[in-house]
Amino acid sequence: MPIIEFSNLNKYGNIRTRRFYHPTTNYGLNPEGFGPWVVVKLHKYEHNHVLPPCIMKLSGKTYIMPGFQEVIEGTTLNDVKHIKPKLKKRTKPIVVQTPSSTDGIMYETKYHPDSGRYACTCPGVWRSNNNCKHIKKLRIEVNGK
Ligand SMILES: [Zn+2]
Repeated sequence: MPIIEFSNLNKYGNIRTRRFYHPTTNYGLNPEGFGPWVVVKLHKYEHNHVLPPCIMKLSGKTYIMPGFQEVIEGTTLNDVKHIKPKLKKRTKPIVVQTPSSTDGIMYETKYHPDSGRYACTCPGVWRSNNNCKHIKKLRIEVNGK
């Protein structure tokens, strides 16, 4: 059942909002007696959680779980909009430093878990099509093969 959110200005000029159930989305109302400003809209509760919402009743009250958001009685999952928070999936790259055998420069070999890509700063990486001995070694350490 859709939730109707009904707002109007009371005699003090303050917005009053009520939410209630109406069997259809076509909510016909007689605006007389509600003042000059009336807004009627369909309401959906927003559920900000990684887990999908579920409805729980406890001591005569209705909640959206998880999170204990109290809602009006009769709320169903159709009245709840699931907003998943963006997961921060920034994994730090694995960095291995290997000294060059010839001139003592440090080569930096990186594995980026986000993209699964490897990179190396040694000159051999170009010749080997991004598959130099450092990357091969690191790949074995990361994947075990
Ligand atoms: Zn390399």
